[in-house]
Amino acid sequence: MIGLVGGWLLWRLRPAAIAYVLTVQAIALVLVVLVFVTSRSPLPRELLTFAMLAATAGTVIVITSVSINVQRQVRRNPWTLHIAYLAAGILTLPPNLLVLLLLGPTLHGVLDGRPELHRWLFTTAATTIATLSARFLIGWSEPGWSPAQFVLTGAVLLLVRAFVVAGGIRLRNPSAARADVVGEPIDVLLGIVAASLGGLLAVAVHSEPGSALLAGPPLVLLDLAGQLPQWRRSAQRDGKTGLANAAHWERLARNELHRAQTRGQPVSLLLLDLDHFKRVNDEIGHLAGDTVLAAVAMMLRSSVRREDVVGRFGGEEFVVLLPGTDTGVACAVADRVRASTAALSVPARDVHGRHRELDDLTVSIGVATTSRFGYELTDLLVAADAALLAAKSGGRNAVTLA
Ligand code: GH3
Ligand code: MG
Ligand code: MG
Repeated sequence: MIGLVGGWLLWRLRPAAIAYVLTVQAIALVLVVLVFVTSRSPLPRELLTFAMLAATAGTVIVITSVSINVQRQVRRNPWTLHIAYLAAGILTLPPNLLVLLLLGPTLHGVLDGRPELHRWLFTTAATTIATLSARFLIGWSEPGWSPAQFVLTGAVLLLVRAFVVAGGIRLRNPSAARADVVGEPIDVLLGIVAASLGGLLAVAVHSEPGSALLAGPPLVLLDLAGQLPQWRRSAQRDGKTGLANAAHWERLARNELHRAQTRGQPVSLLLLDLDHFKRVNDEIGHLAGDTVLAAVAMMLRSSVRREDVVGRFGGEEFVVLLPGTDTGVACAVADRVRASTAALSVPARDVHGRHRELDDLTVSIGVATTSRFGYELTDLLVAADAALLAAKSGGRNAVTLA
């Protein structure tokens, strides 16, 4: 039923992903029903603890959602907040009240107006499974309170949730980047901070339920900190292509060059410029131009190794740094990219909204290597640029070595 409510977007996924999402949701639903059927009625003190935790978390959710809406920001999944108060609930509440605490993400979903209902239902189901697994492991009816059980609570909550969600992302998009599937180190740190804050909150409400309110400001701060990885990523990436932007690419490139120089390894640089790109804009439209840029970026990323540094240098210019690569291989890579560009067929819409298949794209590429120009990035770029100009004046759709 939850899957059906998940709506039409779910049915666009691959069959394996649909089956996985529905299974996860069915397991979560069965667990929730079992909890309600088997639990005793809560004691007054448990009800008070629940009320204080729910009021604190609810207030924080309302405050952060309102501030995000007022500032018209796009928010990332507010998972750190949920981890914190769920960890506190796992340690202090009976399972039926714990399940009610799981409605917190619903409040977030409603206030933030999440567009993809099925995705949100899926992560809520994953969180439910992780929460109840953690509770099961530390003691279903009476949770244990040893330091090891505190750590176990946080670890199971974070790992089970991450594992179930990662399975969904992998099935949905098998080529998803590792950082998008398992997160970055900062995400791990945020998760640990969230679970620890939840543990401290549990200790506080255990001795005095009213002290839950003290957790409000740290929870708001935690939610803000949860946006940091997203802000950092958007400051480093180019919005149209998802590649490193020019400034970030330069930083990465200088690091790689420095590392290669100390190891005595060669590095090659490719500078690419799409041929007659102005025509795409003028004849088909600027949105079609943007679609081409995104398609070229994706092709470029998948044409080189993971350790190669790909960036958007400027308008329709791209750069690739190839560590450990000398002239011969660099030219072969460049020629493969040139051939792949010529073979691209990009579906786009023209200015009249009509579907167009853009398949006469070509690119010119200048190649420069450290063996000839040294390890200064500027020297390599100047040399590659000169080679690129030569490729252009030689008739385009070509690779030229500086
Ligand atoms: P050439 O073969 O000599 O490189 O010809 P060209 O038309 O590609 O070169 P030119 O530098 O004259 O034009 C580059 C064009 O790229 C001009 C600009 O409108 C377009 N462009 C730059 N950035 C973007 C962008 O983000 N989106 C779109 N749609 N077009 C862009
Ligand atoms: Mg250009
Ligand atoms: Mg061009």
